Order: sequence, then C-alpha cells, then structure tokens
Amino acid sequence: MTGTRVEALLVRRATLRIPFPAGFEERLVGHTVTAVTRRAKYLLATLSSGETLIVHLGMSGWFRVERAAGPEFDAEPGETDDDPKHDHVVFRLSSGMLVTFNDPRRFGLMDLAARGELTSHKALRDLGPEPLSAEFDGAVLARACHRRKTPIKVALLDQTVVAGVGNIYASEACFEARISPKRKASAIATSTGAPKPQAQVLAAAVVKVLERAIAKPTARFKVYERAGTACPRRNCEGTIRRIVQAGRSTFYCPACQR
Ligand SMILES: [Zn+2]
Repeated sequence: MTGTRVEALLVRRATLRIPFPAGFEERLVGHTVTAVTRRAKYLLATLSSGETLIVHLGMSGWFRVERAAGPEFDAEPGETDDDPKHDHVVFRLSSGMLVTFNDPRRFGLMDLAARGELTSHKALRDLGPEPLSAEFDGAVLARACHRRKTPIKVALLDQTVVAGVGNIYASEACFEARISPKRKASAIATSTGAPKPQAQVLAAAVVKVLERAIAKPTARFKVYERAGTACPRRNCEGTIRRIVQAGRSTFYCPACQR
C-alpha cells in the first residue's frame, strides 16, 4: 500500500469490533499511504492527510491483496477459498490493486487517528515499549514490575509492561532467564524500582527468544507444551511442568528455574 493512493473504499458494514470512525470513507479516499508500520499488534498506515489508519486483525482478520479486474468493486475477484461474505472492507488503490479485509469473527477493528494524536489514541497510549526496540531493557522492565504482586510470567503478558510478548514466549523467556514463572514480578526490582541483575537477564531473555522465533519460526519450543519431558537444559535433571496462571498455561522447569 505504501506510495499508493486510495482511489475508492467499500465498507460493507457499520461496525467491526467497534464502529468505523465518522467520515471513514472521506478521510481515506484521495489520500496516499506514505508508510505502513506496526505498534504492538496494530498495523499503522500513515496517510498524506496526516491521519493514521489503525488496524487490528483481531482473532481471524486478514488482508487479501489482488489485482483489480476493472474499476468496479464487483469485478470478478481472484481465486480465493475464503467466504466473500466476510469481506468487510475493500481498498481500491492507484496501483490497480484491491486490498480486502476479511474477518469471519469480526474481532478486528479499524480506526483513524488525527495528526499528532496517534500516541495518545486509546488503543496505543498504554502500551509498553516494543521489546526489540532500544526503549526496552532491564531497567524499563524493573520499573514496570516493581509494584506488581502478580507472578513475573503474568506481568510479561501485560501489554503495558512490554508490548507483544504472548503466552508462549512468556514461558520461553522465563526458562531462558532461569527465573521461575511463579516469582513475584516485583522481585526483579529494588523497592525503588531499580533493576536487580535478574531484570537485565530477563529482559535479555525476552529479546533472545523473540529474535530466535523470528529467525526460525518453526523451531521447537524449549518448555512450551512440553510437560512431562526432560528439561532441555544441559546438566539439568528436571522435568517440564505445566501450571495455570491467570487462566493461561505456563510451562517451566522447577529444577533450574528459581
Ligand atoms: Zn531444568
């Protein structure tokens, strides 16, 4: 979409998870997409108007990109195996492409942030730092955790602590750092919020497991969904255990994670 102009927009319903913003069509049509970026799980398309289109895929949303057969939206679409009744929004671009948002469960959303109001938008304002950015380190993690009585693994899932760590990698990061997922989050910080050494170790572990997952998405998890198997850490005799924390499965080695 970058560098293309939105020539037409088809919005087939009034609402996804939330209603489309007022004037959605007029605020998009005729404007050029100058950049497409991401913050946490939000896709951000910056427009030549200065506004930013915010998109979340929800549970089942996805985009289909195909060449338009003609100038009309009802021109024959490409071969797809999805159900077109879930095609909720179609962008016709100056490049001749159609970009279609399909979302059977409709937990996705689209909104627009006015110029200068992106970081204060309610979807983004409370998000913690991106874990793979320079803004994330042990000191930042410790400060976010030092008043939290929740277990450290639960804190890692809190998107206000750090954005983008999901249930799998929260377990994997605790294993990498040799920290028990049951430890109090505040234990990685001093009473004033300064980082203890474990905060640095855990922050580095978060970065390491995410970078490893991006580099090799099919790699086996070290502990996730491996309950009952031997701990993969060399010289550890432990057995991976599954527990439930805040309604989510956690996997860890009780022998080497303290
Ligand atoms: Zn172990």
